[in-house]
Amino acid sequence: MIAFLGLGNMGGPMAANLVKAGFTVTGYDPVPEAAARAASSGVQIADSVADAAADADVVITMLPNGSAVKDCYDQILAAAAPGTLLIDSSTISVEDVREANALAEDAGSPQIDAPVSGGVKGAVAATLAFMVGGTDAAVDLARPVLEPMAGKIVHCGGAGNGQAAKVCNNMVLATQQIAVGEAFLLAEQLGLSAQSLFDVITGATGNCWAVSANCPVPGPVPTSPANNDFRPGFATALMNKDLGLAMDAVAATGSQAPLGSHAAEIYAKFATEHADSDFSAVIEMLRRS
Ligand code: NAD
Repeated sequence: MIAFLGLGNMGGPMAANLVKAGFTVTGYDPVPEAAARAASSGVQIADSVADAAADADVVITMLPNGSAVKDCYDQILAAAAPGTLLIDSSTISVEDVREANALAEDAGSPQIDAPVSGGVKGAVAATLAFMVGGTDAAVDLARPVLEPMAGKIVHCGGAGNGQAAKVCNNMVLATQQIAVGEAFLLAEQLGLSAQSLFDVITGATGNCWAVSANCPVPGPVPTSPANNDFRPGFATALMNKDLGLAMDAVAATGSQAPLGSHAAEIYAKFATEHADSDFSAVIEMLRRS
């Protein structure tokens, strides 16, 4: 039996895909609407974290932040049998996940970090990219549970390395989305059409997801959030959160990240008024400044 804790925008559809794959899934979420949505897709609902975890072979957490994960781990480890596999798919700091991993290992439970990329669309379509940190044995145990939710699973090394990969990827993505916005604005000023720039970049060395899938102007990619009033997509609030984690890691390691740091400043400012817009909407702030 799988316990699934955190049945929100991501956890709800991920748990539903495990049910579809034939697993018995018991979920818990303190928000009744989230629990009710999961129940309608076949997830059995428990009354507490401890109830959900008590008889589980595997416990998956998909929670908002590191303190929620560590709180939950205290409750899970008090209730679950030693040996229960713990998988954390939340996006949290490398430091927090390594603490959670140590808590689990001390209690005799294998634990992996398995954050995801692909957003709500990927969670619904079961095409998430999992970046996994943990021992070979724990990752092998987890694979059959991750596969029904995954497009791709990459084992990145020991505990915390999944989160390390996630913060590095999202720092690159943030800088690319800003750079692509700058290029489309410059093209406008130079009298170059958005479609021409798109056609050139997507066949040239500037190509990246931020333009080929998430083009920040309407037209070239009909499914990009720019065509839909910048409804996410990937909300600015989440990008701002991930850049905060990246900046914590930069500060903790003394690594140099001048572009990542500037992107973090830009998104922190943009998030004060546009937290709910897709992060590609940053082009509108550049246009106004
Ligand atoms: P969400 O806010 O929709 O869901 C989180 C859920 O956790 C909420 O329903 C909340 O009630 C529940 N929760 C809080 N404390 C709990 C507890 N103790 N026990 C059980 N449930 C609890 O957030 P989300 O969009 O589903 O994101 C979840 C995680 O995935 C975050 O760490 C986020 O950064 C990450 N993530 C999100 C996206 C995305 O596009 N939404 C993409 C990749 C990663």
